[in-house]
Amino acid sequence: MQTTFIQSKNCLSCTKQLRGRTDKKFCNDYCRNSYNNQLKAPVNNLIRNINHVLAKNRRILESFLAEDEEMIKVKKEKLMERGYLSKYATHIYINKKGSIYYYCYDYGVLSLDESSCVIVKSKEEWS
Ligand SMILES: [Zn+2]
Repeated sequence: MQTTFIQSKNCLSCTKQLRGRTDKKFCNDYCRNSYNNQLKAPVNNLIRNINHVLAKNRRILESFLAEDEEMIKVKKEKLMERGYLSKYATHIYINKKGSIYYYCYDYGVLSLDESSCVIVKSKEEWS
């Protein structure tokens, strides 16, 4: 004689009791999606926050350069005053002399000394 265990399991998302296959974890796709979205929420928040910082950094760099200018020397404190966060950059560029440009999309920042830096606008075409 065989004994069949009927295991009562609950949806991982809404905690309602599940019916049907014993390997089911969710009532339906809606519950599966909302559970998975909840799991991803912290990393999605992290990405959103950093994207926000990068967009703000770019706006700040852009505001220092007039439309026809390709570079400008500025005091680092002026950047900081506007809320520029130097630890966030999209990529770096190292020239032949070994100078490191910290880019935020199409704008780069090169530190000259403790108090000043140069902002450059990239002429590269991005596709
Ligand atoms: Zn459910």
